[in-house]
Amino acid sequence: MPISFELTDNSIRAREHFNRIAQEQMRPLSREADTGEHHLPQPWVDFWWNEGRKGAPGNPGEPGDGFVTVCIQAEELCWGDAGLYLRMPTAALGGSAVGAAGTDEQKKKFMAPFRESPHPVWGAMAITEPGAGSDSAAIETTADFDEETEEWVLNGTKIFCTAGEGASQVEGGFVVVWATIDASAGRGGIKSFVVPAKTPGMELVGLEKKMGIRASDTATLRFENCRVPRENLLGSAEVKGKKKKPGGDKGFKGAMATFDASRPIVAAMAVGVGRASLDFLKEELERQGVEIRYDAPLHALTAIERDVIEMEAELQGARLLTWRSAQMMGQGKPNNLEASMAKAKAGLAVTQITQKAVEILGPLGQSKKLLVEKWMRDAKINDIFEGTQQINQLIVARRILDYSSSLLR
Ligand SMILES: Cc1cc2nc3c(=O)[nH]c(=O)nc-3n(C[C@H](O)[C@H](O)[C@H](O)COP(=O)(O)OP(=O)(O)OC[C@H]3O[C@@H](n4cnc5c(N)ncnc54)[C@H](O)[C@@H]3O)c2cc1C
Repeated sequence: MPISFELTDNSIRAREHFNRIAQEQMRPLSREADTGEHHLPQPWVDFWWNEGRKGAPGNPGEPGDGFVTVCIQAEELCWGDAGLYLRMPTAALGGSAVGAAGTDEQKKKFMAPFRESPHPVWGAMAITEPGAGSDSAAIETTADFDEETEEWVLNGTKIFCTAGEGASQVEGGFVVVWATIDASAGRGGIKSFVVPAKTPGMELVGLEKKMGIRASDTATLRFENCRVPRENLLGSAEVKGKKKKPGGDKGFKGAMATFDASRPIVAAMAVGVGRASLDFLKEELERQGVEIRYDAPLHALTAIERDVIEMEAELQGARLLTWRSAQMMGQGKPNNLEASMAKAKAGLAVTQITQKAVEILGPLGQSKKLLVEKWMRDAKINDIFEGTQQINQLIVARRILDYSSSLLR
């Protein structure tokens, strides 16, 4: 099989388009958005909704050969600012969930506002709970079917929901909520539900104050007798042979498939933040007259040269794994292993690269006049959400050894 590392013309155009946006629209707002934390960065939101997203490739949840381009978009925009990237009005993880587990009708219906709404809208996905993080099968939020009204009734609390404020409060958006319809069935009973913004019973309890990606609205949401129509369940309501209510044919597996689409994107985000640090470091070294001799023999390299070359190699390796996992996703091939490989590699690379940049730059690395310290703070989350470093390594091991999740955990 021929191997091609060339980007398509479309991807190259997208890279230039998003890099321009990153430079001109995001970087100038970066510090203010970080300091302002929960203050909505209105100029950015308006720009993205009215102008920036035009020329953007399709929704990340929709498979297609543009999926590498979606990762290029994530890299460029996170090179600009990862917090603002997560704050921009898009279907985001909510869209990935609908794309992975929804029927064609559901995709059409729930994604329509992201094309047609006159005002910005957000999507989000709420899995994590106070007692369930890495072990998503432990979630306790319940969804009971009310036979009379033909509605699902949700009860529980979700924490750390990215874009949770926008998605729960602004008309047209939605939160995809994971809940169990049969606690005795373990993971088999877990389903995902689309809860439209402003649905009664869904309450925004608060926003998280964070070390990094501070422009991103990370919400706690409470669901108290929150009712959604039967057709808002993504996939099937079937549990271990018992049929509760009809739907499509994907349940927990469909919900988990969301990660195969989202992990390459998070890996690309990590590559973007890492590249921001490395680009700045190289520019600064050049300004100070430090040359990096890429062709010098190993024994002759200075410590700085060795560090920079290693940082570059880590970044390139992470990017290639990311693109491979994205390309497979776009081609409809199973990419569970590759998505976790990319996410684990990129999550580690970005934390190491941004810390090294702070270290090498000394006082410049610490200064709030520059963004290097901020990139170090923005980096770590890429190694936590959408599966931590340890969890992604576990998935890689399971896939390689062909062990089930109950055998290797
Ligand atoms: C800023 C932010 C945004 C987020 N956005 C979202 C979102 O939009 N939607 C959402 O649902 N969630 C979101 N999350 C939650 C995130 O996905 C979880 O924090 C993550 O999955 C880890 O879960 P936990 O925090 O409960 O940690 P735990 O699962 O308690 O893990 C703690 C530590 O133990 C390790 N560990 C756990 N299990 C194992 C194991 N079996 N083997 C080895 N090590 C293990 C972990 O790697 C970690 O280092 C977000 C979190 C943050 C901080």
